[in-house]
Order: sequence, then C-alpha cells, then structure tokens
Amino acid sequence: MVLAQLGGSITRALQQMSNATVIDEEVLNDCLIEISRALLQSDVQFNLVQDMQTNINNIVNLEDLAAGHDKSKIIEEAVFNELCKMLDPGKSSFVPEKGKTSVVMFVGLQGSGKTTTCTKYAHYYQKKGWKPALVCADTFRAGAFDQLMQNATNAEIPFYGSYMESDPVKIAVEGVERFTEENRDLIIVDTSGRHKQEAALFEEMRQVFEATKPDLVIFVIDSSIGQAAFDQAQAFKQSVAVGAVTITKMDGHVKGGGSLSAVAATKSPVIFIGTGEHMDEFEVFEVKPFVSRLLGFSSELMPKGLEKVKRYMTIMDSMTNEELDSSNPELMNESRMMQIARGSGCLVREVLDMMEYYKRCAKLWSKVKGLLKYRRRVT
Ligand code: GDP
Repeated sequence: MVLAQLGGSITRALQQMSNATVIDEEVLNDCLIEISRALLQSDVQFNLVQDMQTNINNIVNLEDLAAGHDKSKIIEEAVFNELCKMLDPGKSSFVPEKGKTSVVMFVGLQGSGKTTTCTKYAHYYQKKGWKPALVCADTFRAGAFDQLMQNATNAEIPFYGSYMESDPVKIAVEGVERFTEENRDLIIVDTSGRHKQEAALFEEMRQVFEATKPDLVIFVIDSSIGQAAFDQAQAFKQSVAVGAVTITKMDGHVKGGGSLSAVAATKSPVIFIGTGEHMDEFEVFEVKPFVSRLLGFSSELMPKGLEKVKRYMTIMDSMTNEELDSSNPELMNESRMMQIARGSGCLVREVLDMMEYYKRCAKLWSKVKGLLKYRRRVT
C-alpha cells in the first residue's frame, strides 16, 4: 500500500468510526484493526503497529468518558498523535551554525540516495549563505568519486577525494583538515554505502566516524525500503551515533511504511526528504504537517464554497488535458497524483476529491446534454 493510499485507508477507518451511531469498544476495535491492517500493508513494522494499538487503547478509555465528550475527536487525536510519535523521537537534531566549522557525515545503504543527498544538503545550505564543501570517503563503489565530483561541480561546491587512495579514513581526515583550514563552515563527508551483513564496511564506517568526529551523522534511507528497514536502521544506529534521518525518493510510487519503521529504529528526527533526482527536490521535513497531510486532517483540506472551487481549478491547471478527459486510472497513478499535489500546492486527498467531483460533474453534464437533446427532439 503506497503512502497516499495509507492516508486514505486510515481516514476511511476513522470516518467509519465517527459515522457509527454509538462509539463503543467494538467500534473502536474495528477502527484500530483497519488502521493496523493499513499500516502493516504499508510495511510498518509489526511491533510498532502493536504498540500504537495498545497506546491508543490506553489513552482512549471509552467507559470513563463522560457523556458529551466527542469520542470520535478523541480517537482521531490519539491516532494522529501516535503516528506523529512514530516519526518524532521527541528530540531535535544538531543544526550547523553559519561561520563555525561543522562536520556532517552521511551513512546509509548503497543506492539509498546518499551521494545525491550530500549534494542536495550542501546546496540547501549554500543557498542560505553557508560555505559548504564535500568530501568523498567512498572508496568502495567504483565511480562514487566521479559522481560526487560531477554533482559538486554542477552545484559549484568545492570537493575533495582521490582516485588512488583506498583508505577512506585517510581521505576523510585529509578532506576535513583541508576544508577546516579553508574556513569552510559545513564539511560534508560521504561514506560508502553498506549492507547490514557487511561487518568490515561497518567497522570502516565506525573508523571514519572516530577519525573525523562529526557533529552530526545523517542516516539516509530510501522510502521504498520494505520490512527489512527496521533491522537495517538499527544496525547503523548501533555502529555510529546517528543524529538525524533523511528519507529519499518520496516522489516515487512507494509504500513508505518501511522508512517510518526505520525512523523509529534510529530514534532520530527526520530532517529532510528527497522528492526527486534534481538538486532542488529536497524539502525540510516537519512531522505534524506531514501526518496532517497524510490523513487529510489539515484545516486547508476543508475549504468551503468558492475557496474549494478555486483550489480545484489550481489542481486542474497542473493536470494535462488527457488526464482530465480520460477515465483511464493508469494515467492518474499514485506518483502522478503526488506530483500534481506538489505542483498545485495542495494535498493528495484534495486531488482525489477533485477527481471525484470532476467525474460527478461530467456524469451530470452528460445527463443534462441528453435531456436537452431529448427536449429538442420532442419540441
Ligand atoms: P548512493 O549509492 O546511496 O550514494 O545513491 P545515489 O546518490 O547514487 O542515488 C541512487 C539513485 O537514486 C540515483 O539514480 C539518484 O538519482 C536517485 N535518487 C536519489 N535521491 C532521489 C530522490 O529523492 N528521488 C528520486 N526519484 N531519485 C533519487
């Protein structure tokens, strides 16, 4: 189940619960079972789902609630808070200070988008006036230095690496020293991607960590990672002091639940998300707006009357004529809907609502046209 669908399924379960004539234990249980099923289908780890269910049952004590309490609101809030808790360890991460040298080390599985994210991160701070620099301590993957060099050159960011040296610790230390001398205030160290089973590479990562003493270690995780995510993330956390997480490829057709589990495993805040291959497709991450958007709880989701029509028009402006005219669901897949939502500054649920509304209007219009034709024929 992809992220947008996950949000839709949870919202539907909550809606069903709030439509019940009486909200009792059975209704609450059914609602929690539906929510748990949706989370498991999205690859969220079983233990996390179970904890969430227990916590909500502990918080929402229906018997003790006095008459007049809005039970559905209390349940909705509990679900919202538990989802936020999954993504929010309750502590903030280190933030680099302009003008003061900070070292930030990136770790993650090979292919997670680590090297791309290093440059995006550097570019993000460069636009804000920092003086970043990139160090390629990935001597394991052939072409890693070329890739970093190309990205850095495109973004006009100084870089350091070597084709000859095979010791990543040596390169990392030299790079950090050189850029510290050059008064660069944000030195970013890219490390080799590794797999949980690769003990030697994990040891190497630990050595780079010890030698460079980074102010922050950012764990990069691909949003499409499945059930293995929790264990992988934990293996990284046990080797180095992961202080923050960046989730990549949020633009794709992803389940996403695995990355939610990984975040919980590292007990570190998500600070950015990658939303495309391009340098600027990188966004600051904030838990509450993200969960609000996922569930469609955001107050922006309930525009009324004219405002709603205006938002629908904005969404339609981001769609092609073919998409508007076609009844082919293939054209409007999850990833396209996410793109449209981003392009129009709206929520994925609003895109879905707009399409439903559009279909209803199209049906109504064809009936009106039929009636008009019939009237013309009989008069
Ligand atoms: P590394 O092995 O972890 O260093 O991964 P790379 O940085 O080489 O990225 C692997 C692939 O993922 C490349 O093709 C990147 O362009 C792509 N990639 C990285 N971040 C994103 C993202 O946010 N969205 C999409 N769609 N692709 C990404």
